[in-house]
Amino acid sequence: MEEILYADIIVDISSENLDRTYQYAVPDDIREKVFIGSLVLIPFGRGNRVIKGYVVGLSNTLKIPEEFLKTINEVVEGALLIESQLIHLAYWIKENFGATMNDALKTVIPIKQSVKQKEKKKIRLILDSDEATDKLSEYQRKNNTARVRLLQELINENTIDYDLVIQKLNISRSTINGLVEQGIIEVLTKTVYRNPVEKKQIKEYQIVLNDCQKSIADHFINDYFNGIRKTYLIHGVTGSGKTEVYMEMIANVIANKKQVIMLIPEIALTYQTVMRFYNRFSDRISIMNSRLSKGERYDQYLRAKNGEIDIMIGPRSALFTPFSNLGLIIIDEEHEGSYKSETTPKYHAREVAIKRAEMTGASVVLGSATPSLEAYYKAIKGEYHLYTLTSRANNSLLPEVSIVDLREELKNRNKSIFSTSLREKMQDRLDKRQQIMLFINRRGYAGFVSCRSCGHVMKCNHCDVSLTYHTSGKLVCHYCNHEEVMPKVCPVCGSKYIATFGTGTQKVEEFVRKEFPRARTLRMDTDTTSTKDGHEKILTAFANHEADILIGTQMIVKGHDFPKVTLVGIIAADLSLYANDYRASERTFQLLTQAAGRAGRGSEKGEVVIQTYNPEHYSIIAASENDYEGFYQKEMLYRSAMKYPPASNILVILVSSKAENKAELCINLLSGVMREKVNREDEEESQYTIIGPTNASLSKANDIYRKIIYLKHENYDKLKDVKNYLEGYINFSEHFKLCSVQFDFNPMSS
Ligand code: ADP
Ligand code: ZN
Ligand code: ZN
Repeated sequence: MEEILYADIIVDISSENLDRTYQYAVPDDIREKVFIGSLVLIPFGRGNRVIKGYVVGLSNTLKIPEEFLKTINEVVEGALLIESQLIHLAYWIKENFGATMNDALKTVIPIKQSVKQKEKKKIRLILDSDEATDKLSEYQRKNNTARVRLLQELINENTIDYDLVIQKLNISRSTINGLVEQGIIEVLTKTVYRNPVEKKQIKEYQIVLNDCQKSIADHFINDYFNGIRKTYLIHGVTGSGKTEVYMEMIANVIANKKQVIMLIPEIALTYQTVMRFYNRFSDRISIMNSRLSKGERYDQYLRAKNGEIDIMIGPRSALFTPFSNLGLIIIDEEHEGSYKSETTPKYHAREVAIKRAEMTGASVVLGSATPSLEAYYKAIKGEYHLYTLTSRANNSLLPEVSIVDLREELKNRNKSIFSTSLREKMQDRLDKRQQIMLFINRRGYAGFVSCRSCGHVMKCNHCDVSLTYHTSGKLVCHYCNHEEVMPKVCPVCGSKYIATFGTGTQKVEEFVRKEFPRARTLRMDTDTTSTKDGHEKILTAFANHEADILIGTQMIVKGHDFPKVTLVGIIAADLSLYANDYRASERTFQLLTQAAGRAGRGSEKGEVVIQTYNPEHYSIIAASENDYEGFYQKEMLYRSAMKYPPASNILVILVSSKAENKAELCINLLSGVMREKVNREDEEESQYTIIGPTNASLSKANDIYRKIIYLKHENYDKLKDVKNYLEGYINFSEHFKLCSVQFDFNPMSS
């Protein structure tokens, strides 16, 4: 006998009510038709009125007393509703990345906002043209001038703005009401959603694709119209015109009445970028970003749902735009870390995009000058179709790159942070009134304070990280914002030789002021961009040549074309190499290549100076030679040897708790259960690698202890099985009430 099947159903699909699920029995005759995401009709409440609900879970266990159990009436068939699609996608995310269904649903469905909508009223003529002409002559005979003015306008236009009628035609509300009562006109009220790209100046669109760009666009379009759907990767050097290619693809897809989602990392989603799309597609586009208010973001969601727009541009979360006729998803700067969610579910936008596209019959286009190893690996294997653009679109040349060995500078007693060569080049550009960008790589490290006598490093009391020195004289924790005053003597040994190490953006600025007192500088880092439009303002000021030198962190490498920049100086290229992370070399290569790509975008050729203590490192050499392929080959050797992605897959299990002994107990329990399961699988046994349990590299954050296990296996599905098994165990075991467990597949940061 088959077991009874029960369905968890949500009746109000909005984020604040997603926790409220109701269990119903699935009758045998429809069980083949009930899936996660199905729209069903159910009897609800005391009166058993029939309402709609969505299935979000299926199981064989009854969770409520039997006498309260009701049965689903029927499945609404053929309802390929966008909600069904998104719920289905949420389920896939839950299964593949580890999360509760509730967390997964909250990821794909936005928080409903009480929307303050502007009502825009219109007046429409009801009479047909003959009747209207008759009425017009009647009013003219009676010398009823207000009615004549209104009717004449309506005969020409059919519908006109209510406000305009009152202001421009100078007609009173009572005149309008009178005509409404006689059935001559009607007043329409239409909800107008806020449009973030409204009222912008449109420039003539002029660019003609070059042969390389055109052959890519043509190939894609040909595939598309032949019903071929797949994933494409455009590997195009910085400035090769990838964005123009995307736009050509988009134009063809929307001409075919389909919709497009275009993902761009938030940091690159600048005014300049948005305007390029706006100039071509006008108000058929909308944008989503964190600068919009919650209400504005919810409006964009509704506009997409109502078919008011065809193209949504935004960061990771724009992936869940409720387009019901999706044709294409583009992911620009595909390698960016921000495409991976840092909170549970820790999904990667690339994988979810490919899944959503597969579910809805859309294609996916990935693009980057420095593709992630994952994407390039799949492209080489033929899983993605690879396109390449090897030269810049506007005929400007790729910059010339030189490497400076900082150890030599030390030997020559150069105490500046600028090498002799970089300093000479900076002076030259300043003399020529050209612009300079100075890039300081400070990921995984920041100006920490230590004692030169005993080596003590100032750390946050709540987090296992070093404090950062700010020019205000305070030490700040970048994890929990804890602040304290910089001590005058070492708290451990009492020595007064306690000082900051390393070079932050502020330090670079100080050196510029000292060595080039007449140069005008702008600084871009987390301090100067904390206000709403801080980032945008700095970029605009620099584009308007209000400064000669822009100093910044990774933030400066994206989103703007600065034709007057002819020199990029990379102050210390290797800092990111020391990060405790298997992607450290890849990230260094990407940052250097992207930073170098800022130079020489205009008519003058650009130059790049990379200062480093590791001039022999392959990621630095490859970046200086613009040799992606060479970097890829070397890095893959390392990934294969160490069983890191994409050569293998990793599942990270993180247990955190306020009580260290609790965290320890839980991680040990999981480790035991996991080893037992893995050992049962005889043949596969040797293919698993288990590391840990151990402290996470950030072993304490906000007073919460963090313990970790790594599990590696070539086959992603094997890791998924382990995750499912552990999830079952966690739900069942009492011990996990006081700690939280998070899963992370193929992490982007350590
Ligand atoms: P990417 O996205 O690859 O960095 P973009 O699409 O931003 O490149 O193009 C870089 C610059 O080249 C932009 O200023 C763009 O307007 C210009 N450009 C792109 N394609 C062409 C073309 N076919 N003809 C002339 N200029 C072009
Ligand atoms: Zn000391
Ligand atoms: Zn802290």
